[in-house]
Amino acid sequence: MTGTKTMHTPFADFAPPLRQPTDLRRAVTAACRREEAHTLAPLIEAARFPGERRDAIRKTATSLVEAIRLRQKSSTRLGSVDALMQEYSLSSLEGVALMCLAEALLRIPDDDTRDALIRDKIGKGQWREHVGGNRPLFVNAATWGLVVAGKLYGGIDGSVDDQGLSRALSRLIGRAGEPVVRRGVDLAMRMMGEQFVTGQTIAKALKRARELEAKGFRYSYDMLGEAAVTAADAERYYRDYENAIRAIGAAGKGKGVYQGPGISIKLSALHPRYARAKAGRTMDELLPRVKALALLSKGYDIGLNIDAEEADRLELSMDLLESLALDPDLAGWNGLGFVVQAYGKRCPQVIDWLIDLAERAQRRIMVRLVKGAYWDAEIKRAQVDGQRDFPVYTRKRHTDVSYIACARKLLGAPRQIYPQFATHNAQTLATVYHLAGPDSYTPDQYEFQCLHGMGEGLYSQVVGKDKLARPCRIYAPVGTHETLLAYLVRRLLENGANSSFVNRIADPKVAVAELVEDPVEAVLDMAEPGARHEGIALPSAIYPDRANSAGLDLADEDTLAALTHGLQATLAQPWFAAAEGVTGTARPVRNPADHCDVVGEVIDTPAAYAPEAMARARASTWGLFAVEERALILEKAAGAMQAQMPRLMGLAMREAGKSAANAIAEVREAIDFLHYYALQARQTFGSAQKPLGPIVCISPWNFPLAIFTGQVSAALVAGNPVLAKPAEETPLIAAEAVRILHEAGVPADALQLLPGDGEIGAALIA
Ligand code: FAD
Repeated sequence: MTGTKTMHTPFADFAPPLRQPTDLRRAVTAACRREEAHTLAPLIEAARFPGERRDAIRKTATSLVEAIRLRQKSSTRLGSVDALMQEYSLSSLEGVALMCLAEALLRIPDDDTRDALIRDKIGKGQWREHVGGNRPLFVNAATWGLVVAGKLYGGIDGSVDDQGLSRALSRLIGRAGEPVVRRGVDLAMRMMGEQFVTGQTIAKALKRARELEAKGFRYSYDMLGEAAVTAADAERYYRDYENAIRAIGAAGKGKGVYQGPGISIKLSALHPRYARAKAGRTMDELLPRVKALALLSKGYDIGLNIDAEEADRLELSMDLLESLALDPDLAGWNGLGFVVQAYGKRCPQVIDWLIDLAERAQRRIMVRLVKGAYWDAEIKRAQVDGQRDFPVYTRKRHTDVSYIACARKLLGAPRQIYPQFATHNAQTLATVYHLAGPDSYTPDQYEFQCLHGMGEGLYSQVVGKDKLARPCRIYAPVGTHETLLAYLVRRLLENGANSSFVNRIADPKVAVAELVEDPVEAVLDMAEPGARHEGIALPSAIYPDRANSAGLDLADEDTLAALTHGLQATLAQPWFAAAEGVTGTARPVRNPADHCDVVGEVIDTPAAYAPEAMARARASTWGLFAVEERALILEKAAGAMQAQMPRLMGLAMREAGKSAANAIAEVREAIDFLHYYALQARQTFGSAQKPLGPIVCISPWNFPLAIFTGQVSAALVAGNPVLAKPAEETPLIAAEAVRILHEAGVPADALQLLPGDGEIGAALIA
């Protein structure tokens, strides 16, 4: 490299705060960390009704449920996907197999892998138990296909062929081979997809919408596609939205944002780096794109709604919305829309902030209230990332209560908010209907919303003069099967979950009274109202026999502020690594991402020192320590690493060039190794276990703490003295690990750090 390089202070620009936080924004941040029962307590009060109104709600809900059930019985349409979902619930092996297939089939590009997947998923199910009886034709037909496929793959024995159909089909498919099965299963998946898609193009969707528009329904179109991975994807999705807005605008014929059709967009479709870690790029690159779409929508006077996605993107999306709402170019247009998720602990605080924003921006914001479609993913992500708690509730009835309390908030700010209640649940709908005033409806007061392919039974009771006479907007996905996958999976989860209203109402075994149960009363009847679900382990408790390491939430503004401080504090520390007693010339250790940044210094161990180190290890009495004592020392070291997370992260980021997220994973893996080996030692070492003797551990630079600690702790816990040679690029973080282990109780002669290059490694091995 030539030229001069300006010195850059490490961590100077680490996670700059989002917009200057106001009290309302701080309240949003804080709400995520609150305990479930504590968060829910005020909402229970806000969602509670006196007896008389409760009765009225139950009456409305009951009549809605009965009407849907009646329609289901007489409808020829049930028998399609609804029935299939009912048959293959996610609590059955077969349901999960179908879900896995749907999730993966559409995106596997090569046929061999598709065949392998089908073989794996279909072969194991007991499909035949799902055939015959009173099942609708569609279910039977689909099941026969699966029986046959299962038979072909050896999952079902040859005696199962009562009507002969199975045998005949098997022979046919056996002759035709796997491609036929693949086509069949693929087709079944596409049929499911089509149930949830309004049209492959916006033109087709607009045409198809006319029938229900004539009955009083409105539409919001969603161009399928989300989570862009490349700039080219994002560009394509942007063009799709742009074209759709023009088409919707033309079809809207100036009916306005409330009466006319609109569009729903996903921010993750518009930028491949829409994440908190790239907040700067989000504001510089994504915001102008959203603004351009908003300006276009304003020109046609149609609504543009920003869908809600994963919880870790919430605050970022609030920044974007605030910029749009306050932008003078978008003033005077009431079509800006935002979605809030009632399953999120922050929902009420987000609504308070939205009301304030509308006031400041002097506009009415459209707010869609949903329960939330990413529940499973939120729970799993929090567990995998070792978060303190979940960002969402863990009991469905808590989400139901939150929905009602949030609906009350939205309805209470009619000047600032146009509420849009998106639900397929008759009980929830009936509650909102009574909350808003059953006897009075002013034009443009609020609307309901449902998804295309779901909730028609419910909303045919709502829209229209002789019905409840409230408007409903249908969310209409548009696109081809290539872009359908993520959306389809969320719909299959919603339809297949045995807790969801659409699944339960299709199940005749669930009584009407259960379907119209008041969630507030159900919560109050609990032994501990608002308590977290005992069957969903907190992230710290996912392993039954050992502690999980704790991570840091890099989307939490307070955590980021504290971490920035912690990382900057590590800059003042003189980091140094050398073998005990070895002197000589130190060499600088540089940040691989910025060679001007000297992280610390190391004295490389001369090869000639190896015999002395080995003799010292041989003389160690470490092998005489009891197993329990060694295990306890490892656990103590794990605790120390956990407490020093920012220090160790700082080193991993500067010495090994890790991102913050990778640095957290690095430290957590080291901690997990310590817990794991402590447990293994206790469980597997009897009194007869004998140490092997000195062990040389040579670790690589790419996991400079995790692999280093893993090797060292496995050898140590078995009573072996360790000679640890870290990669020459990353001796400083290894020196910290050794210091922590020494402080935890490992004697100096039982663990010697020997930094250096391949020469000392070779000498030790020799
Ligand atoms: P119900 O059966 O009453 O509720 C099911 C919901 O309860 C689940 O989806 C989940 O949110 C919640 N739940 C289930 N189990 C638990 C549990 N153990 N603990 C806590 N909560 C639980 N979703 C988004 O995330 N973003 C959007 O932008 C979005 N847009 C939508 C637009 C429209 C028009 C509609 C109709 C839906 C939209 N959704 C969106 C999807 C929506 O979140 C689901 O359809 C909705 O959650 C289903 O709720 P329900 O009242 O219809 O059904």
